[in-house]
Amino acid sequence: MLVIISGPSGVGKGTLIRHLMKHPHFVYSVSATTRPPRPDEEDGTHYHFLSTEEFLGRIEAGDFLEYEEVFGHRYGTLRSPILQEEARGRHVILEIDVQGAEQVFSSDQECVSIFLAPPSMEELRRRLEGRGTEDPQRLELRLARAQDEIERSDRYDIRIVNDDLAAAVEQAEAFLQNRLQTA
Ligand code: 5GP
Repeated sequence: MLVIISGPSGVGKGTLIRHLMKHPHFVYSVSATTRPPRPDEEDGTHYHFLSTEEFLGRIEAGDFLEYEEVFGHRYGTLRSPILQEEARGRHVILEIDVQGAEQVFSSDQECVSIFLAPPSMEELRRRLEGRGTEDPQRLELRLARAQDEIERSDRYDIRIVNDDLAAAVEQAEAFLQNRLQTA
């Protein structure tokens, strides 16, 4: 089963996923991107960092389950690692944006989906500023996009507000336990 997790930049998806990954039946799908790596990011762990030419070649080859352009860079989910992990009986976690998720929802791929929302836009701004990865212009872009994503989140199976991390993790675990047992 695929587990889609979306939510605005800075909402805490990475932290939620790190908690879920403590369960051995979950594995994280490493996306491909043309975005340059951040200082703490490693190729093959956080993303497969590709050139635009490489990325376009993989689109041509039909290698992506879904792909999107986000903030001027391309991001996509490669099919083959997902098939390998599913064959091992693991649930694959995809951290993808709302547009990418809509592509998966419209396909015949079975999935469960979680949208992680911030308690408020003010809190999201505070968290993004605290993360310090964006210059002011990019920060405003991410906040505008966040608003749009929140408005389009009603196609997800569940929306969890990340007010208190422990509570959000607990809610996500309970939801997944329930859905993955009955799926
Ligand atoms: P970031 O640059 O902060 O790592 O990610 C920016 C956005 O791209 C986030 O909303 C993230 O969920 C999305 N993203 C990351 N990987 C993928 C992917 O494989 N497919 C799609 N559609 N979006 C992705």
